[in-house]
Amino acid sequence: MRCPLAPPARRHMLAETAGVARMTDTLDPKDWRAFRATAHDLLDACIDRLESAAAHPWQPVPETVKAGYALTGAAHGEAETAARLIAEVLPHGTGNTHPRFWGWVHGTGLASGLLSEMVAATVNANCGGRNHGMIHVERAVIDWTRRIMGFPETASGVLVTGTSQATVLALAAARHRALGPEVRHKGLQHRLTAYAGEGVHNATRKAIELLGIGADNLRRIPETEAGMDLAALRAAVAADRAEGARPFAVIGTAGSVDFGRFDDLDRLADAARAEGLWLHVDGAFGAWTRLADPPWRALSDGIERADSLALDYHKWIYVPYDCGLCLIREEPEHYAAFAARPAYLAGHGEGLAGGDPWFCDYGTDLSRGARALKVWTAIETHGAAGLGAAISGNCRAAARMGATVEASAHMALCAPVISNLCVFTADATLPPEAQSALNRQISEALQLEGTAVFSTTEAQGITCLRAAITNHRTTPADVDAAIAAVAAKARALTAAGAPPLQTDGDQDVP
Ligand SMILES: *Cc1c(COP(=O)(O)O)cnc(C)c1O
Repeated sequence: MRCPLAPPARRHMLAETAGVARMTDTLDPKDWRAFRATAHDLLDACIDRLESAAAHPWQPVPETVKAGYALTGAAHGEAETAARLIAEVLPHGTGNTHPRFWGWVHGTGLASGLLSEMVAATVNANCGGRNHGMIHVERAVIDWTRRIMGFPETASGVLVTGTSQATVLALAAARHRALGPEVRHKGLQHRLTAYAGEGVHNATRKAIELLGIGADNLRRIPETEAGMDLAALRAAVAADRAEGARPFAVIGTAGSVDFGRFDDLDRLADAARAEGLWLHVDGAFGAWTRLADPPWRALSDGIERADSLALDYHKWIYVPYDCGLCLIREEPEHYAAFAARPAYLAGHGEGLAGGDPWFCDYGTDLSRGARALKVWTAIETHGAAGLGAAISGNCRAAARMGATVEASAHMALCAPVISNLCVFTADATLPPEAQSALNRQISEALQLEGTAVFSTTEAQGITCLRAAITNHRTTPADVDAAIAAVAAKARALTAAGAPPLQTDGDQDVP
Protein backbone atom coordinates (compact mmCIF):
# COMPACT_ATOMS: atom_id res chain seq x y z
CA MET A 1 0.00 0.00 0.00
CA ARG A 2 1.24 3.43 -0.83
CA CYS A 3 1.74 5.98 1.86
CA PRO A 4 -0.58 8.84 0.96
CA LEU A 5 1.81 11.47 2.23
CA ALA A 6 4.83 10.67 0.07
CA PRO A 7 4.31 8.53 -3.02
CA PRO A 8 7.49 6.52 -3.75
CA ALA A 9 7.76 7.84 -7.31
CA ARG A 10 7.86 11.40 -6.14
CA ARG A 11 10.28 10.60 -3.32
CA HIS A 12 12.63 8.98 -5.84
CA MET A 13 12.47 11.96 -8.11
CA LEU A 14 13.30 14.35 -5.29
CA ALA A 15 16.33 12.26 -4.33
CA GLU A 16 17.61 12.20 -7.91
CA THR A 17 17.29 15.92 -8.41
CA ALA A 18 18.90 16.74 -5.06
CA GLY A 19 21.90 14.50 -5.83
CA VAL A 20 21.30 12.53 -2.62
CA ALA A 21 23.38 9.38 -2.00
CA ARG A 22 22.06 6.20 -3.59
CA MET A 23 20.18 3.70 -1.42
CA THR A 24 23.14 1.30 -1.61
CA ASP A 25 25.47 3.79 0.11
CA THR A 26 25.84 3.61 3.88
CA LEU A 27 28.19 5.33 6.29
CA ASP A 28 29.98 2.05 7.02
CA PRO A 29 33.63 1.76 5.94
CA LYS A 30 34.02 1.08 2.21
CA ASP A 31 36.88 -1.31 2.95
CA TRP A 32 36.51 -3.25 6.18
CA ARG A 33 40.03 -4.70 5.95
CA ALA A 34 41.53 -1.25 5.84
CA PHE A 35 39.25 -0.15 8.65
CA ARG A 36 40.37 -3.11 10.76
CA ALA A 37 44.02 -2.08 10.34
CA THR A 38 43.18 1.54 11.20
CA ALA A 39 41.25 0.50 14.32
CA HIS A 40 44.06 -1.80 15.50
CA ASP A 41 46.58 1.02 15.10
CA LEU A 42 44.37 3.34 17.09
CA LEU A 43 43.88 0.77 19.83
CA ASP A 44 47.65 0.33 20.05
CA ALA A 45 48.08 4.08 20.37
CA CYS A 46 45.50 4.19 23.18
CA ILE A 47 47.16 1.33 25.05
CA ASP A 48 50.60 2.95 24.59
CA ARG A 49 49.19 6.11 26.08
CA LEU A 50 47.75 4.39 29.14
CA GLU A 51 50.84 2.24 29.64
CA SER A 52 52.98 5.38 29.72
CA ALA A 53 50.49 7.47 31.74
CA ALA A 54 53.22 8.47 34.20
CA ALA A 55 55.08 10.23 31.37
CA HIS A 56 52.08 12.34 30.38
CA PRO A 57 51.00 15.01 32.83
CA TRP A 58 48.60 17.76 31.78
CA GLN A 59 50.09 20.39 29.52
CA PRO A 60 48.41 23.45 27.97
CA VAL A 61 46.93 22.80 24.53
CA PRO A 62 49.04 24.54 21.86
CA GLU A 63 47.20 27.27 19.93
CA THR A 64 47.80 25.50 16.62
CA VAL A 65 46.14 22.35 17.94
CA LYS A 66 43.11 24.25 19.25
CA ALA A 67 42.70 26.04 15.94
CA GLY A 68 43.09 22.75 14.09
CA TYR A 69 39.96 21.34 15.74
CA ALA A 70 37.77 23.72 13.71
CA LEU A 71 35.48 21.79 11.36
CA THR A 72 35.02 22.62 7.72
CA GLY A 73 32.49 19.84 7.09
CA ALA A 74 34.72 18.13 4.49
CA ALA A 75 35.00 14.31 4.63
CA HIS A 76 38.42 12.76 5.31
CA GLY A 77 37.61 9.09 5.86
CA GLU A 78 38.45 6.78 8.74
CA ALA A 79 42.22 6.41 8.27
CA GLU A 80 43.01 10.10 8.12
CA THR A 81 40.62 10.83 10.97
CA ALA A 82 42.18 8.12 13.14
CA ALA A 83 45.64 9.58 12.48
CA ARG A 84 44.38 12.95 13.65
CA LEU A 85 42.85 11.39 16.78
CA ILE A 86 46.25 9.93 17.62
CA ALA A 87 48.28 13.04 16.86
CA GLU A 88 45.96 15.86 17.89
CA VAL A 89 43.43 14.59 20.42
CA LEU A 90 45.03 11.79 22.42
CA PRO A 91 47.87 13.93 23.85
CA HIS A 92 45.73 16.84 25.12
CA GLY A 93 43.62 15.47 27.97
CA THR A 94 43.06 16.76 31.50
CA GLY A 95 46.11 14.83 32.67
CA ASN A 96 43.98 12.97 35.21
CA THR A 97 45.49 9.70 34.04
CA HIS A 98 48.81 10.84 35.58
CA PRO A 99 49.82 9.37 38.99
CA ARG A 100 50.37 12.82 40.55
CA PHE A 101 47.05 14.29 39.46
CA TRP A 102 45.07 15.23 42.59
CA GLY A 103 43.23 18.32 41.39
CA TRP A 104 39.55 18.77 42.36
CA VAL A 105 38.03 15.28 42.68
CA HIS A 106 38.87 13.66 39.38
CA GLY A 107 38.72 9.99 38.60
CA THR A 108 41.67 8.58 36.78
CA GLY A 109 40.23 6.02 34.36
CA LEU A 110 40.81 2.30 33.96
CA ALA A 111 42.32 0.31 31.11
CA SER A 112 39.24 -1.88 31.34
CA GLY A 113 37.33 1.17 30.11
CA LEU A 114 38.93 0.65 26.72
CA LEU A 115 37.35 -2.78 26.59
CA SER A 116 33.88 -1.72 27.66
CA GLU A 117 33.76 1.36 25.42
CA MET A 118 34.55 -0.63 22.30
CA VAL A 119 31.67 -2.94 23.03
CA ALA A 120 29.34 -0.11 24.03
CA ALA A 121 30.03 1.69 20.74
CA THR A 122 29.51 -1.50 18.77
CA VAL A 123 26.22 -2.48 20.39
CA ASN A 124 25.03 1.14 20.43
CA ALA A 125 22.22 0.35 22.84
CA ASN A 126 19.56 2.84 23.81
CA CYS A 127 18.97 2.17 27.50
CA GLY A 128 15.82 4.26 27.87
CA GLY A 129 14.03 0.93 27.98
CA ARG A 130 12.92 -2.09 25.95
CA ASN A 131 14.11 -5.64 26.06
CA HIS A 132 17.87 -6.07 25.46
CA GLY A 133 21.10 -7.05 27.14
CA MET A 134 22.43 -3.68 28.29
CA ILE A 135 19.27 -3.11 30.34
CA HIS A 136 20.12 -6.22 32.31
CA VAL A 137 23.74 -5.10 32.66
CA GLU A 138 22.51 -1.81 34.15
CA ARG A 139 20.19 -3.65 36.52
CA ALA A 140 23.10 -5.84 37.64
CA VAL A 141 25.28 -2.78 38.33
CA ILE A 142 22.52 -1.07 40.30
CA ASP A 143 21.76 -4.22 42.25
CA TRP A 144 25.42 -4.76 43.15
CA THR A 145 25.74 -1.14 44.28
CA ARG A 146 22.48 -1.37 46.25
CA ARG A 147 23.86 -4.33 48.19
CA ILE A 148 27.21 -2.62 48.86
CA MET A 149 25.37 0.47 50.12
CA GLY A 150 23.05 -1.62 52.30
CA PHE A 151 19.83 -0.45 50.66
CA PRO A 152 16.80 -2.78 50.79
CA GLU A 153 15.46 -4.80 47.86
CA THR A 154 12.66 -2.25 47.53
CA ALA A 155 15.18 0.27 46.18
CA SER A 156 15.47 1.39 42.57
CA GLY A 157 18.13 3.26 40.68
CA VAL A 158 19.12 4.84 37.42
CA LEU A 159 22.55 5.65 36.01
CA VAL A 160 23.10 9.27 35.05
CA THR A 161 25.99 11.56 34.10
CA GLY A 162 27.09 12.06 37.70
CA THR A 163 26.16 13.12 41.20
CA SER A 164 24.93 16.53 40.01
CA GLN A 165 22.23 14.94 37.88
CA ALA A 166 21.52 12.26 40.46
CA THR A 167 20.89 14.98 43.05
CA VAL A 168 18.29 16.63 40.84
CA LEU A 169 16.46 13.32 40.43
CA ALA A 170 16.63 12.38 44.11
CA LEU A 171 15.40 15.75 45.31
CA ALA A 172 12.60 15.65 42.71
CA ALA A 173 11.43 12.41 44.32
CA ALA A 174 11.68 14.07 47.75
CA ARG A 175 9.66 17.03 46.46
CA HIS A 176 7.06 14.63 45.12
CA ARG A 177 6.74 12.96 48.52
CA ALA A 178 6.30 16.38 50.17
CA LEU A 179 3.75 17.79 47.73
CA GLY A 180 2.15 14.73 46.17
CA PRO A 181 1.33 14.11 42.50
CA GLU A 182 -0.11 17.62 42.24
CA VAL A 183 3.40 19.03 41.95
CA ARG A 184 3.75 17.38 38.54
CA HIS A 185 0.68 19.22 37.27
CA LYS A 186 0.53 22.49 39.09
CA GLY A 187 4.13 23.12 40.08
CA LEU A 188 5.14 24.43 43.49
CA GLN A 189 2.15 25.61 45.50
CA HIS A 190 4.01 25.76 48.82
CA ARG A 191 7.33 27.08 49.98
CA LEU A 192 9.66 24.12 50.58
CA THR A 193 12.85 24.30 52.62
CA ALA A 194 15.85 21.97 52.63
CA TYR A 195 18.83 21.68 54.96
CA ALA A 196 22.49 20.84 54.44
CA GLY A 197 25.84 21.39 56.12
CA GLU A 198 27.85 24.46 55.20
CA GLY A 199 30.27 22.32 53.20
CA VAL A 200 27.56 20.88 50.96
CA HIS A 201 28.54 20.63 47.30
CA ASN A 202 27.31 23.21 44.84
CA ALA A 203 25.43 20.44 43.02
CA THR A 204 22.78 20.50 45.77
CA ARG A 205 22.27 24.22 45.41
CA LYS A 206 21.89 23.88 41.65
CA ALA A 207 19.37 21.05 42.07
CA ILE A 208 17.34 23.10 44.55
CA GLU A 209 17.33 26.02 42.12
CA LEU A 210 16.37 23.85 39.17
CA LEU A 211 13.47 22.28 41.08
CA GLY A 212 11.97 25.72 41.61
CA ILE A 213 12.59 25.68 45.36
CA GLY A 214 15.06 28.56 45.31
CA ALA A 215 18.58 28.59 46.71
CA ASP A 216 17.52 30.81 49.64
CA ASN A 217 15.35 27.92 50.82
CA LEU A 218 18.42 25.70 51.15
CA ARG A 219 19.46 26.39 54.73
CA ARG A 220 23.16 26.05 55.50
CA ILE A 221 23.58 24.39 58.88
CA PRO A 222 26.84 24.94 60.79
CA GLU A 223 29.15 21.95 61.07
CA THR A 224 31.04 20.49 63.99
CA GLU A 225 33.78 17.87 63.82
CA ALA A 226 30.96 15.26 63.71
CA GLY A 227 29.33 16.93 60.72
CA MET A 228 26.10 18.88 60.66
CA ASP A 229 25.16 20.43 64.04
CA LEU A 230 21.89 18.63 64.71
CA ALA A 231 20.65 21.06 67.36
CA ALA A 232 21.06 23.85 64.79
CA LEU A 233 19.25 21.69 62.23
CA ARG A 234 16.26 21.16 64.54
CA ALA A 235 16.14 24.87 65.37
CA ALA A 236 16.17 25.84 61.69
CA VAL A 237 13.40 23.37 60.86
CA ALA A 238 11.25 24.68 63.74
CA ALA A 239 11.79 28.29 62.68
CA ASP A 240 10.79 27.51 59.08
CA ARG A 241 7.70 25.61 60.20
CA ALA A 242 6.71 28.54 62.41
CA GLU A 243 6.89 30.74 59.32
CA GLY A 244 4.61 28.47 57.35
CA ALA A 245 7.27 26.85 55.14
CA ARG A 246 7.34 23.09 54.55
CA PRO A 247 10.69 21.58 55.50
CA PHE A 248 11.02 18.57 53.19
CA ALA A 249 14.59 17.30 52.93
CA VAL A 250 17.94 17.20 54.64
CA ILE A 251 21.04 16.56 52.59
CA GLY A 252 23.84 14.70 54.32
CA THR A 253 27.36 14.59 52.93
CA ALA A 254 29.48 11.47 52.80
CA GLY A 255 32.84 12.94 51.79
CA SER A 256 32.77 16.72 51.38
CA VAL A 257 34.41 18.02 48.27
CA ASP A 258 36.87 20.37 49.92
CA PHE A 259 37.95 18.51 53.09
CA GLY A 260 36.62 14.96 52.77
CA ARG A 261 34.33 15.36 55.79
CA PHE A 262 31.46 13.04 56.61
CA ASP A 263 28.23 13.80 58.40
CA ASP A 264 27.40 11.33 61.17
CA LEU A 265 24.83 9.61 58.98
CA ASP A 266 23.30 7.48 61.73
CA ARG A 267 22.53 10.49 63.89
CA LEU A 268 21.40 12.43 60.85
CA ALA A 269 19.01 9.61 59.91
CA ASP A 270 17.56 9.73 63.45
CA ALA A 271 17.08 13.49 63.16
CA ALA A 272 15.52 13.20 59.69
CA ARG A 273 13.08 10.58 60.94
CA ALA A 274 12.16 12.65 64.00
CA GLU A 275 11.48 15.70 61.84
CA GLY A 276 9.75 13.82 59.03
CA LEU A 277 12.37 14.89 56.46
CA TRP A 278 13.58 12.99 53.42
CA LEU A 279 17.25 12.11 53.96
CA HIS A 280 19.32 12.46 50.83
CA VAL A 281 23.03 11.62 50.98
CA ASP A 282 25.60 13.14 48.64
CA GLY A 283 28.08 10.29 48.53
CA ALA A 284 29.75 11.28 45.24
CA PHE A 285 33.04 9.66 46.15
CA GLY A 286 32.73 9.05 49.91
CA ALA A 287 29.94 6.47 49.61
CA TRP A 288 32.64 4.12 48.31
CA THR A 289 34.36 4.05 51.69
CA ARG A 290 31.89 1.14 52.05
CA LEU A 291 34.57 -0.84 50.17
CA ALA A 292 37.51 0.49 52.20
CA ASP A 293 39.43 -0.96 55.13
CA PRO A 294 38.97 0.26 58.70
CA PRO A 295 39.02 3.02 59.84
CA TRP A 296 37.71 4.59 56.62
CA ARG A 297 34.79 2.22 56.13
CA ALA A 298 33.09 3.43 59.30
CA LEU A 299 32.93 6.98 57.91
CA SER A 300 29.91 6.03 55.83
CA ASP A 301 28.12 3.95 58.48
CA GLY A 302 24.42 4.79 58.43
CA ILE A 303 24.38 5.47 54.68
CA GLU A 304 22.02 2.50 54.37
CA ARG A 305 19.34 4.50 56.18
CA ALA A 306 19.04 7.25 53.56
CA ASP A 307 15.90 7.75 51.47
CA SER A 308 18.12 8.49 48.49
CA LEU A 309 21.78 8.41 47.62
CA ALA A 310 23.76 10.06 44.83
CA LEU A 311 27.18 8.70 43.96
CA ASP A 312 29.71 8.53 41.17
CA TYR A 313 31.49 5.66 39.50
CA HIS A 314 33.83 8.05 37.68
CA LYS A 315 35.63 9.12 40.85
CA TRP A 316 36.24 6.24 43.21
CA ILE A 317 35.34 3.32 41.02
CA TYR A 318 37.67 5.06 38.55
CA VAL A 319 35.61 4.29 35.41
CA PRO A 320 36.07 6.62 32.45
CA TYR A 321 33.78 9.67 32.45
CA ASP A 322 30.90 9.89 32.90
CA CYS A 323 28.78 7.78 35.22
CA GLY A 324 26.85 8.32 38.44
CA LEU A 325 23.90 6.71 40.19
CA CYS A 326 20.67 7.95 41.72
CA LEU A 327 19.51 5.31 44.20
CA ILE A 328 16.11 5.63 45.88
CA ARG A 329 15.02 3.55 48.83
CA GLU A 330 11.39 2.94 47.79
CA GLU A 331 10.85 2.22 44.12
CA PRO A 332 7.24 3.48 44.05
CA GLU A 333 8.39 6.92 45.20
CA HIS A 334 11.03 6.96 42.46
CA TYR A 335 8.61 5.85 39.76
CA ALA A 336 5.86 8.24 40.84
CA ALA A 337 8.15 11.24 40.42
CA PHE A 338 9.06 10.52 36.79
CA ALA A 339 6.90 7.90 35.06
CA ALA A 340 5.17 9.28 31.98
CA ARG A 341 5.00 7.32 28.75
CA PRO A 342 3.01 8.42 25.73
CA ALA A 343 1.36 5.80 23.50
CA TYR A 344 4.32 5.35 21.17
CA LEU A 345 6.46 4.24 24.10
CA ALA A 346 3.99 1.73 25.55
CA GLY A 347 5.78 -1.36 26.81
CA HIS A 348 4.21 -4.75 26.25
CA GLY A 349 4.73 -8.41 25.51
CA GLU A 350 7.79 -10.55 25.00
CA GLY A 351 9.11 -8.59 22.01
CA LEU A 352 11.54 -5.70 21.99
CA ALA A 353 8.80 -3.43 23.38
CA GLY A 354 8.80 -5.51 26.59
CA GLY A 355 11.47 -5.40 29.25
CA ASP A 356 9.53 -3.38 31.84
CA PRO A 357 10.43 -1.51 33.99
CA TRP A 358 12.03 1.02 31.64
CA PHE A 359 14.75 3.33 32.88
CA CYS A 360 13.12 6.34 31.20
CA ASP A 361 10.45 6.14 33.93
CA TYR A 362 13.06 6.81 36.63
CA GLY A 363 14.64 10.02 35.39
CA THR A 364 14.47 12.71 32.73
CA ASP A 365 16.47 11.06 29.94
CA LEU A 366 14.67 9.04 27.31
CA SER A 367 17.62 8.11 25.10
CA ARG A 368 20.46 6.81 27.28
CA GLY A 369 23.78 5.16 26.46
CA ALA A 370 25.17 1.96 27.96
CA ARG A 371 26.94 3.73 30.85
CA ALA A 372 26.57 0.66 33.01
CA LEU A 373 28.89 -1.42 30.87
CA LYS A 374 32.07 0.34 31.97
CA VAL A 375 31.07 -0.14 35.61
CA TRP A 376 30.18 -3.78 35.06
CA THR A 377 33.51 -4.31 33.28
CA ALA A 378 35.45 -2.59 36.08
CA ILE A 379 33.80 -4.73 38.75
CA GLU A 380 34.27 -7.92 36.76
CA THR A 381 37.92 -7.04 36.15
CA HIS A 382 39.00 -5.89 39.61
CA GLY A 383 36.33 -7.19 41.96
CA ALA A 384 35.06 -5.43 45.06
CA ALA A 385 38.30 -6.30 46.86
CA GLY A 386 40.55 -4.81 44.17
CA LEU A 387 38.57 -1.59 43.97
CA GLY A 388 38.39 -1.40 47.77
CA ALA A 389 42.16 -1.83 48.04
CA ALA A 390 42.70 1.08 45.64
CA ILE A 391 40.29 3.25 47.67
CA SER A 392 42.03 2.37 50.94
CA GLY A 393 45.35 3.07 49.20
CA ASN A 394 44.15 6.58 48.32
CA CYS A 395 43.23 7.23 51.96
CA ARG A 396 46.66 5.93 53.02
CA ALA A 397 48.30 8.25 50.48
CA ALA A 398 46.42 11.25 51.91
CA ALA A 399 47.44 10.23 55.45
CA ARG A 400 51.06 9.94 54.30
CA MET A 401 50.87 13.36 52.67
CA GLY A 402 49.41 14.81 55.87
CA ALA A 403 52.13 13.27 58.02
CA THR A 404 54.85 14.57 55.66
CA VAL A 405 53.35 18.06 55.78
CA GLU A 406 53.21 18.00 59.57
CA ALA A 407 56.80 16.79 59.81
CA SER A 408 58.12 19.59 57.60
CA ALA A 409 59.59 22.82 58.90
CA HIS A 410 57.30 25.31 57.18
CA MET A 411 54.24 23.47 55.87
CA ALA A 412 51.08 22.96 57.92
CA LEU A 413 47.74 21.24 57.52
CA CYS A 414 44.76 23.59 57.08
CA ALA A 415 42.25 20.87 58.00
CA PRO A 416 42.54 17.37 59.46
CA VAL A 417 43.05 14.53 56.97
CA ILE A 418 39.89 12.44 57.29
CA SER A 419 39.71 10.36 54.14
CA ASN A 420 41.45 11.01 50.83
CA LEU A 421 41.87 14.79 50.95
CA CYS A 422 44.88 16.67 52.24
CA VAL A 423 44.56 20.47 52.49
CA PHE A 424 47.68 22.34 53.53
CA THR A 425 49.71 25.49 53.23
CA ALA A 426 53.25 25.55 51.90
CA ASP A 427 54.58 28.04 54.43
CA ALA A 428 52.62 28.65 57.61
CA THR A 429 55.25 31.14 58.85
CA LEU A 430 54.09 33.80 56.35
CA PRO A 431 51.18 36.24 56.88
CA PRO A 432 47.84 34.85 55.59
CA GLU A 433 47.75 36.87 52.36
CA ALA A 434 51.29 35.90 51.45
CA GLN A 435 50.45 32.25 52.14
CA SER A 436 47.46 32.44 49.81
CA ALA A 437 49.50 34.02 47.03
CA LEU A 438 52.30 31.49 47.51
CA ASN A 439 49.95 28.50 47.47
CA ARG A 440 48.25 29.71 44.28
CA GLN A 441 51.61 30.24 42.63
CA ILE A 442 52.86 26.80 43.63
CA SER A 443 49.69 25.13 42.38
CA GLU A 444 49.97 26.83 39.01
CA ALA A 445 53.73 26.36 38.64
CA LEU A 446 53.62 22.64 39.42
CA GLN A 447 50.74 22.18 36.96
CA LEU A 448 52.59 24.02 34.20
CA GLU A 449 55.80 22.08 34.85
CA GLY A 450 53.89 18.81 34.79
CA THR A 451 55.20 17.88 38.23
CA ALA A 452 51.90 17.42 40.08
CA VAL A 453 48.36 18.77 40.06
CA PHE A 454 47.06 20.28 43.29
CA SER A 455 43.99 22.49 43.21
CA THR A 456 43.27 25.14 45.84
CA THR A 457 40.53 25.83 48.36
CA GLU A 458 39.82 28.25 51.19
CA ALA A 459 40.37 27.24 54.80
CA GLN A 460 40.80 29.50 57.83
CA GLY A 461 40.89 32.52 55.53
CA ILE A 462 43.81 31.13 53.51
CA THR A 463 43.92 29.80 49.97
CA CYS A 464 45.40 26.36 50.62
CA LEU A 465 46.80 23.62 48.44
CA ARG A 466 44.37 20.75 48.11
CA ALA A 467 45.07 17.18 47.06
CA ALA A 468 41.98 15.06 46.45
CA ILE A 469 43.34 11.58 45.87
CA THR A 470 40.97 9.50 43.77
CA ASN A 471 43.85 8.11 41.77
CA HIS A 472 44.66 4.39 41.68
CA ARG A 473 48.03 5.15 40.04
CA THR A 474 49.38 7.17 42.97
CA THR A 475 52.24 5.49 44.85
CA PRO A 476 53.86 6.55 48.15
CA ALA A 477 56.84 7.72 46.08
CA ASP A 478 54.54 10.06 44.13
CA VAL A 479 53.33 11.61 47.37
CA ASP A 480 56.89 12.11 48.64
CA ALA A 481 58.10 13.56 45.34
CA ALA A 482 55.22 16.00 45.11
CA ILE A 483 55.59 17.27 48.68
CA ALA A 484 59.32 17.70 48.11
CA ALA A 485 58.49 19.67 44.96
CA VAL A 486 56.09 21.90 46.92
CA ALA A 487 58.77 22.58 49.52
CA ALA A 488 61.39 23.36 46.88
CA LYS A 489 59.01 25.63 44.99
CA ALA A 490 58.06 27.45 48.21
CA ARG A 491 61.73 28.07 49.00
CA ALA A 492 62.44 29.33 45.49
CA LEU A 493 59.41 31.62 45.39
CA THR A 494 59.83 33.10 48.88
CA ALA A 495 63.52 33.70 48.18
CA ALA A 496 62.47 35.53 45.02
CA GLY A 497 59.99 37.67 46.96
CA ALA A 498 56.81 36.04 45.58
CA PRO A 499 54.75 38.80 43.97
CA PRO A 500 51.03 38.10 44.61
CA LEU A 501 49.33 36.44 41.65
CA GLN A 502 46.21 37.90 40.12
CA THR A 503 44.60 34.48 39.62
CA ASP A 504 41.19 33.93 41.10
CA GLY A 505 40.99 31.16 43.70
CA ASP A 506 37.20 30.82 43.34
CA GLN A 507 36.39 27.81 41.24
CA ASP A 508 33.33 25.67 40.77
CA VAL A 509 34.80 22.44 42.10
CA PRO A 510 33.62 19.23 40.45
C1 LIG B 1 32.03 15.66 42.41
C2 LIG B 1 31.03 15.89 43.46
C3 LIG B 1 29.71 16.25 43.15
C4 LIG B 1 29.27 16.47 41.72
O1 LIG B 1 29.32 15.26 41.04
P1 LIG B 1 29.50 15.19 39.45
O2 LIG B 1 29.73 13.76 39.20
O3 LIG B 1 30.68 16.06 39.12
O4 LIG B 1 28.25 15.70 38.85
C5 LIG B 1 28.83 16.38 44.17
N1 LIG B 1 29.20 16.20 45.45
C6 LIG B 1 30.45 15.87 45.80
C7 LIG B 1 30.79 15.67 47.23
C8 LIG B 1 31.42 15.71 44.80
O5 LIG B 1 32.68 15.38 45.13
